Formats: sequence, structure tokens, C-alpha cells
Amino acid sequence: MELLKEKILKEGRVLKGNVLKVDSFLNHQMDIPFINELGKEFRRLFPSDKITKILTIESSGIGIACIAAQYFNCPVVFAKKSKSINLDSECYRTNVESFTHKCVYHVFVSKKYLNEDDVVLIIDDFLANGNALLGLMDIVKKSGASLEGIGIVIEKANQPGGSIIRSKNVHLESLAIIESMNEGYIRFKDE
Ligand code: 5GP
Repeated sequence: MELLKEKILKEGRVLKGNVLKVDSFLNHQMDIPFINELGKEFRRLFPSDKITKILTIESSGIGIACIAAQYFNCPVVFAKKSKSINLDSECYRTNVESFTHKCVYHVFVSKKYLNEDDVVLIIDDFLANGNALLGLMDIVKKSGASLEGIGIVIEKANQPGGSIIRSKNVHLESLAIIESMNEGYIRFKDE
């Protein structure tokens, strides 16, 4: 998505450890008209009228998912993170290793908000090693819902997440794919 690539080039900052900071429009301050365009693009890429839920993970996926959900006319469910094991039998649970915080979160979704009748679109901000998505996919599987696809704002192709998820035959769409980046430059795939 050209608009997103331009925004990343203009406002993104590459930090050590293969981290892209996009705090000015996505992860801290949020540029709502811009994110609205991302929402429209997700709708174009996932036109199915069967989608009943958008699933994301707290915290940075929530705002994006909520804006996108207006184009899908469905609720957003976000997986909650907790540092202690949640033994509530009314929840689907899984573990996710955080790329940015270098720790393992226990993640859960209430059974009230996801079940076998649901058709789910997963949305998240970044795809790096794929752990967040694998956790969300595990929750979808445990709920018996079907997975329509996964929409990602920024995929970093120099990390293995994209190939891991694509090898599972999931409809994965990333609005921008970064091939490589360094403190001085960002190169997108297909350039
Ligand atoms: P993964 O589980 O795919 O390794 O990482 C995905 C999660 O880590 C995303 O939900 C995002 O919050 C965070 N993340 C991964 N890479 C980056 C990055 O380069 N920049 C930012 N801001 N967050 C990232």
C-alpha cells in the first residue's frame, strides 16, 4: 500500500534489534484518518460478508482493529495478556512470546466472545517472528471458529513469521512488507 510505505519512510525510525518505531502514527500517537485508510484496504482485501469477529491482541492491535471493524460491521475481540496463568475454565488460553518485551505472556479470550459459529479475521500491527499470530490462531482453533484470514499492517520479511504463517495455508495480507532495514534505510519488498 503506497500510502503506508510513504508514511513509514517519512516517519518511521529503525532502532537496534530490528525494531521499527512508528509511534507518530500507529503505536503511540494514532493518525485516525490514515488508519481509516488502512481499515478500508483490509476490507478490500477481505471482502467476505461471512466475517463475524475481528480478533486482535492487546494493546497496539486494538485501535487498528476497531477502526477497521467499522468496514466489517462486526465486533472486535482482543486477546488479553496476563503475567500469571489464568485458570478460568471459561476462557481459551495460550502463550505468546513477546518480540518487543522479551517475555512470555499468558493470553486469553473469554468463551463468551468466540465460538464455533464465528468466522474470524485476525488483525495486528506487526508481523515479526509470528508468535503473536500463532497464539491468536491457537485461540481461534480452540474456540472451533473458522479463520477467514489475517491482516497485518507491517510485516518484516527479514524475520521468519511471514513464511511460518503462509506455510499454514492461511490467507495472510500485509499492507507493507519490509525486505530489509537498517538505521539509514528501509527497503520494501518488490522494489
Ligand atoms: P511477533 O509475535 O510476530 O514476533 O511480533 C509481533 C508483535 O510484536 C506485534 O504485535 C508488535 O506489537 C510487536 N512488534 C514486532 N516487531 C515490531 C517492530 O519492529 N516495531 C514495533 N513497534 N512493534 C513490533
